[in-house]
Amino acid sequence: MSLFAPGDRTVALLAQVAVERSVDRYPDGLTYAVPATLADLRAGERVRVPLGRGDTPVEGIVVRTIAADSEPAPSAARLKFVESRSGDAPPMPAQLVELARWISAYYVCPVGMTLAAMTPAAVKRGTGTVTRAFVDLASGWEAALAAAKRVSAQQRAAIGALHAMPAGDRPVDLRELRERAGLGTDEPVKRLVAAGIVTIERRSTVEASWRAERVLADAEPELTTAQRSVVDAVGAAVGAGFSQHLLFGVTGAGKTEVYMRLIRRALDAGRTALVLVPEIALTPQTGGRLLARFPGERVAILHSGLTAAQRNQQWNLVSSGQVRLVMGARSAVFAPVPDGQLGIVIVDEEHDSSYKQDQMPRYHGRDVAIRRAQLAGCPVLLGSATPSLESWFNATERKASALHVLRERAPGLRLPSVQVVDFAEERRRFPDQRVHLLGPTLAGAVQTTLDTGGQVLILLNRRGYANYIACADARCGWLMRCDRCDAGMICHTLPSPAGGAAARYVRCHHCQSEQRLPRECPQCGRGITVFGLGVQRVEEELTRLHPALVPGSTMLRIDADSMQDAEDFHDALGRFGRGEVRLLVGTQMIAKGLDFPGVRLVGVVNADTALNLPDFRAAERTFQLVSQVSGRCGRGADAGRAIVQTFQPDAPAIRLAAAHDFESFAAGELDMRRKFGLPPWKRMARAVVRDESEERAREDAESLARALAAAAERANVGRTPEEHIQVSGPFPCPIARIADRWRMQVEMMAPTAASLGKFLTSARNEGTLRPGEAVAVDVDPVALM
Ligand code: ADP
Ligand code: ZN
Repeated sequence: MSLFAPGDRTVALLAQVAVERSVDRYPDGLTYAVPATLADLRAGERVRVPLGRGDTPVEGIVVRTIAADSEPAPSAARLKFVESRSGDAPPMPAQLVELARWISAYYVCPVGMTLAAMTPAAVKRGTGTVTRAFVDLASGWEAALAAAKRVSAQQRAAIGALHAMPAGDRPVDLRELRERAGLGTDEPVKRLVAAGIVTIERRSTVEASWRAERVLADAEPELTTAQRSVVDAVGAAVGAGFSQHLLFGVTGAGKTEVYMRLIRRALDAGRTALVLVPEIALTPQTGGRLLARFPGERVAILHSGLTAAQRNQQWNLVSSGQVRLVMGARSAVFAPVPDGQLGIVIVDEEHDSSYKQDQMPRYHGRDVAIRRAQLAGCPVLLGSATPSLESWFNATERKASALHVLRERAPGLRLPSVQVVDFAEERRRFPDQRVHLLGPTLAGAVQTTLDTGGQVLILLNRRGYANYIACADARCGWLMRCDRCDAGMICHTLPSPAGGAAARYVRCHHCQSEQRLPRECPQCGRGITVFGLGVQRVEEELTRLHPALVPGSTMLRIDADSMQDAEDFHDALGRFGRGEVRLLVGTQMIAKGLDFPGVRLVGVVNADTALNLPDFRAAERTFQLVSQVSGRCGRGADAGRAIVQTFQPDAPAIRLAAAHDFESFAAGELDMRRKFGLPPWKRMARAVVRDESEERAREDAESLARALAAAAERANVGRTPEEHIQVSGPFPCPIARIADRWRMQVEMMAPTAASLGKFLTSARNEGTLRPGEAVAVDVDPVALM
């Protein structure tokens, strides 16, 4: 029995235990007594504890232990005891538990839920591993072979096959060796292992598949002076405690090369390097390059495309200290690198919004990475060609971070010339009345580039075929909207059977509901027309303009609809890299991180897609997108050219991105943000109240806003106006209803992260702010829709 029997036991140790579904009132978990048999219990260990009135046994993680006499002990008579240790999964490193406490407090999320999000599900259950055997000739295999008593023909075939392979292809997957040597079983190989002639090593399937991508012989180039000074400065910080660095380097400046040298430094110092990249499925090239540079090093890769068993295995590899290079997307920031091991944290493309998680805990991977480095006492390096204004502000205004700059592209490469094309102007040049998405300038450049053997990227950051579905008669004015959301429906096409007309359907991009494309207007019975922008329509127009481009063969479309998984994306990029595909048309998936020397033209169909959104980061996003996608060309011997179509050629975000002038853009944008009291000058938090009843959503939001305003008033006593917490709202979210739920928001602004954190914590402990299904709290939000 776990219940405390009063009087007959003294409690020496208390443990605060985070249970996944525990209430929010206890940010550090629930307090339990620790029985003498578990006196060595430590933070990070998994335990079973009784919960609730029925004492249902549940699993939890020890957040911290406290000597019973060090604190006013909670009434001992009512304390329950920790039942036992649970499972065989390794404990979490104490620094990760610390990190969880910080996330829980800062991002307003119960610590149990935070910890649950940090550990992969399979680890919680301790299931399955996935490995493959890799075989190589042992060193001194010839002598071992000479000494062997009997060597079968099959064993000789295996040795022969290994020997015939170029050294770079070994170790080889056992299955492949069996195929090459014509073996029916593994037995001959096992015997060779026993005889010391070959070696066998187990590697994770994840690592195996990435190794297969190996970029051949990536020779280490000589660093430029600028690269060297960054490597020296940040490298000197490895092993010297926490420090924060921003690497601002134009696209193609050789930032990846800098990362690789720094990883080397950390490994040489006997430490582990943790590298974060935006959603890894989207940057297969970076992964391949890193692996190629460290062929002898075991690498753990953590991303959302892994199966539960694979994730579990990667987690265990890291936690046991067997791998010292860890790479992955957002959640890899929780890799269980043992305490004291971390040598450097690198965040590539730190501006990327995929670092922000959009469900609880709503953390920002970049900011958590900084905190993690702080706890581990190691340097953190953020890198980007278009730093977020937050990071730029930290480096230039607050001087909280060292700034390193690479102004020029790597030797032999030039920045592309970017031409901004006024699309209103272009339209006047069309001889016919049809609606075109590619103007004469861009269409002509595509033709010339294809004719002269170059490759082309065409970007339109909007999925589907067309974003308006309307009555063909303008006087009627019917426009198709989602029944469940405050948003228009988007027309999509299905891949057409050869030659046939493409089938069309409609989809809502917010609730994902789908319907047939109506045949007639429900209001007046006349026909339907679809218009507006969509990447599928661009694909169709390219086929019409350039008959030599064959969809699925010499032309590929890359977006969330055409790419089912990371494998598809790898495959598509492989075909592009080999030159089989001449043109890629896609959404922002093609704007990131790709490095293909054959790309001579980049076209942006419409740079304005994000510019007019009601979000204060609209200009920043537009600048990033235009700079990043233009940066994909000019990575070979030929200078590249980018053509940007826009209706707003004078918008600073577009004009300055074309001029490769991040610093002027950042200066202007920061000025504006200061004027309006927006981040990064202030810290923002947003509470979104959701309810199926519009009225209840408004009422609840109103009372929340009142309570928060009152709390702010109390907090502001004795402070100067600059130090004030400001609460505004409620007002309807820009998308006022999603999936049948009405959405109202309340906004909070604070001068610093610390003051915002303090305010939110007290609002939470007073019960004013109860994050959950009905109220979403987003601290430092990146999406304001
Ligand atoms: P970034 O990450 O800044 O966009 P990359 O690291 O992809 O830039 O570098 C662009 C190209 O330049 C790559 O092909 C890389 O191998 C090459 N490169 C990087 N540094 C050097 C150097 N010092 N000398 C020659 N080539 C380099
Ligand atoms: Zn919808």
